[in-house]
Amino acid sequence: MQIKCNVLDRQFQMYQSEYEQAALRVLRSGWYVLGREVEQFEQEFAAFAGRRYCVGLNSGLDALIMSVRALEIGKGDEVIVQANTYIATVLGITENDAVPVFVEPDEYYNMNADKIEQAITDRTKAVMVTHLYGQASNMAPIVEIARKYRLAVIEDCAQSHGACFDGKMTGTFGISGCFSFYPTKNLGAFGDAGAVVTDDGEFAEKIRMMRNYGSRIKYHNEIEGVNSRLDEMQAALLRVKLAHLRELNDERKMLAKRYDEGITNPRIMLPKLREGAESIYHQYVVRCAGRNALQEMLEQRGIQTQIHYPIPPHMAKCYVHLGHKKGEYPIAESYADQVLSLPIYTGMTLAEQDYVIEQINSWDADENG
Ligand SMILES: *Cc1c(COP(=O)(O)O)cnc(C)c1O
Repeated sequence: MQIKCNVLDRQFQMYQSEYEQAALRVLRSGWYVLGREVEQFEQEFAAFAGRRYCVGLNSGLDALIMSVRALEIGKGDEVIVQANTYIATVLGITENDAVPVFVEPDEYYNMNADKIEQAITDRTKAVMVTHLYGQASNMAPIVEIARKYRLAVIEDCAQSHGACFDGKMTGTFGISGCFSFYPTKNLGAFGDAGAVVTDDGEFAEKIRMMRNYGSRIKYHNEIEGVNSRLDEMQAALLRVKLAHLRELNDERKMLAKRYDEGITNPRIMLPKLREGAESIYHQYVVRCAGRNALQEMLEQRGIQTQIHYPIPPHMAKCYVHLGHKKGEYPIAESYADQVLSLPIYTGMTLAEQDYVIEQINSWDADENG
């Protein structure tokens, strides 16, 4: 059996006629960038996320970069970020010439709230929290610390569309919830797309101006903007998928539960869910010593897996100039050596999943190094 990490055509086939209708509607409309579909999607996604405003953008990275910029965080400022996040979170900071200050993750792969205070200096302006792999972070203490030190909270929700903590949606804890709709995300478009959600009208307006060359009125450029517009095609297709997102997330939760119950190999550490946290299982990430051998064995048996992420940002080549050393963030570094993301996707069959479970359970780490 051949099993890929991501199988994107199955989610298309599931609602094929709805997607095709939406695409035709856009093609025939004669209007392709920032129009009615984008407005409708923004309203629908704001309602889904439980926020007053949504601004559709080109990508999740843009949502992060523009949020930091709109908060006027720049040169000399510091932003706290978890050491095991995706590079894009950190790029959102460094693109603005601000300095990322890393803190170690907790056992749920999210930011360890107990380690934030010791990372705060008089230059700290914000905490950027990633709800990694789809699990909502421990937001109550983070919000409290941010309030105490007057820091902005920016949430990277690129992997957590619809995940709640204590019933409160990720993306509603800070001033800005940053979403990516890259095709593999739980709410994925058919190309690049992203959005910011917020309750702050002024902040929303600034992002809205910024995405379109810094203008509210055409050719009246009030701030130095960028081109980060969401197009009508992606918005129309996202509207279709958003209407089904709850059931799509439920399917992943069901698959995650089957992995939880099915994987019995004692060498494999299964993902844990914090009390009060929900995960939409953007990734199902296990951990073990001998991870590379496990990955190789699975590959030989036709099962593709991924590593999120093999190099923590502080060790990335692009950040050598930040001067970090190996060993500085041992937990993030050990996760990078041990995590493995198993196949989980919309339309994964139980037979496919059972095959993955079987192969993992048959793995003898001693024998295979
Ligand atoms: C995907 C992702 C991003 C970036 O989103 P793009 O739309 O690809 O720019 C940012 N942060 C995290 C955690 C992601 O998973």
